[in-house]
Amino acid sequence: MSAAGAADRHRYPPGPMLTAIDHVGVAVPSIDDALALYRDSLGMELVHRETVAEQGVDAALLDVGDSHVELLQPLEPDTAVGRFLSRRGPGLHHVAYRVASVQETLDACAAAGMRLIDAAPRTGIRGSRVAFLHPASTGGVLTEIVQPAEEEH
Ligand code: ZN
Repeated sequence: MSAAGAADRHRYPPGPMLTAIDHVGVAVPSIDDALALYRDSLGMELVHRETVAEQGVDAALLDVGDSHVELLQPLEPDTAVGRFLSRRGPGLHHVAYRVASVQETLDACAAAGMRLIDAAPRTGIRGSRVAFLHPASTGGVLTEIVQPAEEEH
């Protein structure tokens, strides 16, 4: 296949909306404790930490190639991640797919009859635009779509 053909396959639209696994979100009671595993034992580089008050979490991003692990520590027990931890304990919380446009992807998911948690994009970590799809529509996997901030490209 020619280089131009390969580029055409990845053009958006009408190419695939989901272009990569951007990150997996992992709920932890303590980011500092979890870094002993992810940074010190597994050797991932810690590249960002941020408090996302709107989502009730402290977050940390570690590089895995072009993707990330996102550690999520609840700010309070009565938050989405806090309730997740008390129900299920630490572990995989969500999968996030990278997209060129969160709004266009949300529109396409809504048109496909999927249930959305966020009807409109909100601000995520590192200035990204994000939205969540309801696990009832995604086979039980809490699913996030992420449009990275322009400076991340
Ligand atoms: Zn996430």
